[in-house]
Amino acid sequence: MNKIIPLHIHSEKSVLDGVAKVKDYAKHIKSNEGFYDLLMLSEHGNLLSLMEGFNNSKKYDIKFATAMEIYLKVEDDKKMYHLLVFGNNYDSYKEIIKINNNSVTSGQEYKGKSYWTLEQLGFLKHSYVSTACIGGYTNIPIAKDSDFELAEKRLLELIELIGKDSLMLEYQCYRDDQQRTINSWNNKMRRKHNLKSVVSSDSHVISKEDNKYIKAVRSIGWKTKIENLEDENSSHLRTLDMFKEENKKYNMNIPEEVFDEFVEFSRNFYNNIESYNLHHKQRFGRFNEDVKKEFENKVEKGMKEKGLWTNEYISRYKKEKDIIFYHKVPDYFLRMQDFVSIAKNNDIMVGADRGSGNSSVCNYALGITETDPIKHNLLFERFYDKHRKEYPDM
Ligand SMILES: [Zn+2]
Ligand SMILES: [Zn+2]
Repeated sequence: MNKIIPLHIHSEKSVLDGVAKVKDYAKHIKSNEGFYDLLMLSEHGNLLSLMEGFNNSKKYDIKFATAMEIYLKVEDDKKMYHLLVFGNNYDSYKEIIKINNNSVTSGQEYKGKSYWTLEQLGFLKHSYVSTACIGGYTNIPIAKDSDFELAEKRLLELIELIGKDSLMLEYQCYRDDQQRTINSWNNKMRRKHNLKSVVSSDSHVISKEDNKYIKAVRSIGWKTKIENLEDENSSHLRTLDMFKEENKKYNMNIPEEVFDEFVEFSRNFYNNIESYNLHHKQRFGRFNEDVKKEFENKVEKGMKEKGLWTNEYISRYKKEKDIIFYHKVPDYFLRMQDFVSIAKNNDIMVGADRGSGNSSVCNYALGITETDPIKHNLLFERFYDKHRKEYPDM
């Protein structure tokens, strides 16, 4: 049986659109002969399933790679266009994370998701980009206005930005005329511009039978009643055999050579996956003499201001400090103090305490909590001790 990579798949982390659970994808892919053992989720405008995907790839002993269905915003145009970005190496992971973080931190936000610009797309050097669904940058003009001229102009723009080796035409099996037209247009473009192509499920559920659940989540996401939505029947994950069967049955205009090409691409992509680890042992933040000094200065200043510079409090502070320095996490406390003070200075409500965080004199002195632990007899060991491997909970 010819295997393919499961490409362009959405989990429930494509919030109120996808239904499939990350672990169910991993389990299904592992047990299905039609797929290479690879979990590469591509959520809408977010990377929320990254860690869960990585962890499940380990659990089910399959390979892992990074992808995302990005939203693209072009100047003066209110529309958000889809494009699939994916790669099989660590550099690709790093560039996708970096560009997306830049979007998030510069406030490029659309309905809780990030969007990218054309300029950002041009920063990709180690990833593939494919033209995605009928919401794609080249595909919307075709689907909405039959504007093939604009579609080709945009395709040339993408070729210029991404390069012919990394830009791919994406074929899908959504059973409607718009997708048929896009597939036919892809056929013309791949010959005319000598472009590679991929075939994707754009799945939101795993099995055909599960398509019926999509309406339920979309009715919430799109703020409409279920009866206003059309039945969904094309959002399942497909093997090559399923693609071929549907292509024939529903006249999806995908030529045999495109399938062959995708089988070849899948083999190369899978065989060249570079494995990388998303769990890093490194502790949060810096740990050096400067940070230690800053921590001491700030805690001691807070204690003095609160009138706590007495033997009882000082000995408790020293005990706490020993453990905090033992775990090399004073920076974690300082950054937490930043969050709380920024919130307080901007009239954003902050709770007095969080869990066992109220058991620390250091937290109290830094203004992270508002409870005096000695007065209320609260044990620091409830909060943190030498045996605890996780970060303290505050
Ligand atoms: Zn899409
Ligand atoms: Zn999609």
